[in-house]
Amino acid sequence: MKKPIKWMSIFLISVLSFLSGGPARGQKTSAKERADLIAAGGTVVTMDGERRIIEDGAIAVKGDAIVAVGKRAEIEAKYTAPRRIQAQGKLILPGLINGHTHAPMTLLRGLKDDVTLEEWLTKYIFPAEAKNVTEDFVRWGTRLAALEMIRGGTTTYADMYYFEDAIAEETKAAGMRGVLGETVIDFPVPDSKSPQQTLAYTEGFLKKWKGDAQIHAAVAPHSIYTTSEKTLRDSAALARKYGAPILIHVAETKREREESEAKNGLSPVAYLDKLGVLGPDVLAAHCVWVDADDRKLLAARDVGCVHNPSSNMMLASGVAPVAELRAAGVRLGLGTDGTAGSNNDLNMMEEMDLAAKLQKVTRMDPRALGARDAVEMATIEGARALHLEKEIGSLEPGKKADFIVLGLDAPHAVPMFEVYAQIVYALKASDVETVVIGGKAVMRERRVLTLDEAKVIEKAREYGKKVAESLQ
Ligand SMILES: [Zn+2]
Repeated sequence: MKKPIKWMSIFLISVLSFLSGGPARGQKTSAKERADLIAAGGTVVTMDGERRIIEDGAIAVKGDAIVAVGKRAEIEAKYTAPRRIQAQGKLILPGLINGHTHAPMTLLRGLKDDVTLEEWLTKYIFPAEAKNVTEDFVRWGTRLAALEMIRGGTTTYADMYYFEDAIAEETKAAGMRGVLGETVIDFPVPDSKSPQQTLAYTEGFLKKWKGDAQIHAAVAPHSIYTTSEKTLRDSAALARKYGAPILIHVAETKREREESEAKNGLSPVAYLDKLGVLGPDVLAAHCVWVDADDRKLLAARDVGCVHNPSSNMMLASGVAPVAELRAAGVRLGLGTDGTAGSNNDLNMMEEMDLAAKLQKVTRMDPRALGARDAVEMATIEGARALHLEKEIGSLEPGKKADFIVLGLDAPHAVPMFEVYAQIVYALKASDVETVVIGGKAVMRERRVLTLDEAKVIEKAREYGKKVAESLQ
């Protein structure tokens, strides 16, 4: 009995399709190109060269890359995709880029605050790290960091810590993109007795991750005040042998600058240039104490800098000359720094807000740094600072499909007049609903898909108790 009915239905469908000019005639649907994912209906903040903002826009994704960005009607007419993200009434933004972190320090969050940097380091952080930082600690700390970053819309981050290979594995498992480097420092650390040992470890790390789509392995000499001239030169040579980025703290404090001037007769920036370290592969965190000559040099060497407003405020390091750095043509991104004693979270939405407001208040000029500037620093300028602007930082065909969808239904999100101002001064990390990295959803409607959230939080509490006990 079943068979005739089935054949009859197929016949009827074919006839109907033929009459309606549908699939059987092959015109409309087969003309559509097949994509893998379409996000459609929202306001698309592209951050492209023209800074286009597309109302009722859409993005089509194929594999890990964007193939088209435009009006929803145009994209829908041209592409079809099995996976869809409905973004009506929402914002679609490039994934945020956190240019400076020490991810596993999430497990030391709030260990001790409101003390001087020296007291914080010698009495609390160094002892806590010596007693607690193991590979397992680093894995759980990175998972916690990844969870927090994904929830806040960060898709790429630059990191320097210890057991960095474990950080790379966890970053990849979480579905994130990372520029990651093992901290090279001239004293014993949890996973290394000497800078030579760290550089040998780093060489293996660079070889292992070479060519990976998500992980950019880097060399990370900590700073000029914690490493010798030889360590700095050796680090740069190793990075250049492998075409790897160099991550380093530069001109963070007044003291660093004064000591460099006394010891080397040069500013930290000029000293690094003399050693041959500066180049278009360097990502310099902070750049607070940089004068006009330093800024010219940073621009001429094509160095990327990262501004960390929360950290600079919390540690009372000073105020980076953001407007002057940008005016000099320096590639300037935005970061959080570590989550212990210097922030204490990984919230890039907050960092944009603070970056703008810190410049305004210190110059007594509300025009000093605008909302659009802050969004640029967290997206396309952040990508430029990481020298990854061909890959990420804006929503354009050919770039990696790293984007986030923000809801606009919270009380603090309505009404909306100006998109950039809303993002920077009103919206929160908690407004991020969906996060796509390399075409894969890592969070969908606020559910993180790549990490066991309950387990990560339970482990963080466990480690919190362990760290507290170890310091008693
Ligand atoms: Zn740092």
